[in-house]
Parts: sequence; structure tokens; C-alpha cells
Amino acid sequence: MYFAEPVAKLIEHLGKLPGIGPKTAQKLALYLLEIPEEEARALAEAIITARKNTKYCSVCFNLTDTDPCAICQNPGRNHRLLMVVEEPKDVAAMERTGSFNGIYHVLHGVLSPIKGIGPEDLKVRELLLRLSREPVEEIIIATNPTVEGEATAMYLASLLKPLNFKVTRIAHGLPVGSDIEYADELTIRKALEGRRVLE
Ligand SMILES: [Zn+2]
Repeated sequence: MYFAEPVAKLIEHLGKLPGIGPKTAQKLALYLLEIPEEEARALAEAIITARKNTKYCSVCFNLTDTDPCAICQNPGRNHRLLMVVEEPKDVAAMERTGSFNGIYHVLHGVLSPIKGIGPEDLKVRELLLRLSREPVEEIIIATNPTVEGEATAMYLASLLKPLNFKVTRIAHGLPVGSDIEYADELTIRKALEGRRVLE
């Protein structure tokens, strides 16, 4: 099907978004051309503003508009309990359930020898650094139950246990291979309650 150059360009950009195939990109583009101009402008501005005003927290590396982020700054959170997750979306999923009152550390990925991702590519050094100056007692490793997630959990446990932290792993309740992002509230709560100490 033929589209004028500006429309084709819009379809091309939308098609680069995760989970958007060519058909959906075309549908979205045609939809965007139908909505009032001010709405289209508001959408474009929301993208620019979110990008401009969002950064990574210098403490936990979650996405934030303040530094440190609201969670790191909150004295009402349990700063002795730290949960390690893969991505900012995992923090969002956990916060949505409201079942965790500790603080977080976002790794920004998992170890993957195949993709050439080693510890130096993740926020591991930053984790060790903050643990040396924060009153953390227990570290819950909440990487996803994938091969890479498990390997990363084992690696972190081998680093942290000699430093005398209690290191636990959420496992029970989360089906193997499924991401925390998609788990429902009850499943996440159960996974959290059923965490086991990593030996
Ligand atoms: Zn933070």
C-alpha cells in the first residue's frame, strides 16, 4: 500500500516501538492523523518532556524525575531491606502490588555470556559501593526466573554472602520463565513471602 512520504515516515517510527508490528504501526499512524491537532501535539510534547525530565536515580538507578528518587528519599521505607531487580519496569510492577516496603537496586540487565554482558555492564559495582555505606541487612534478589536471571542471582549471592549480608531469592509462585513484570499481585506477594536464603 502506498502512503505519502510523511505518513510513511510516521509508520516507520511507530513500527520501531516494542510490540508494534507493521499493521499496528499503520493503524496507529492513521489514527494519529485523525485526532485533533492539539492532542497530537500534546502526545509529541509528552514524549519530549518525559525524556527531558527523567533520569536514573544516582543511588538505585531507577527512572526518576528527582535525584535521589522518591523511594530512596523516603524515610518511611525499610532501608535495611534491599531488592535487586533487572529493570525499572520491575520496580514499577513491584510498587503496583504495594507488597514491598524496602528499597531497590536496578541492575539494568542480567549476565549473559552469549550476548557478551558481564558484571561490568550491570550496576554491580554501584551496588557494592552503596552497600558499604547504607544500613542494608537483607538483599532480596528478584531477577526473573530465566537462565540468565538465575545465573545473575547466583553470581550476586557469591559476591554478597562473604560480606555477611542475608541474601534471599524470590522463587516460589513465579512460574519458570515468566517475568515479574507480568505477574499479578498475589503471585508477587507469594513469591516475596516464600523467598529462600541463598546458600
Ligand atoms: Zn533511587
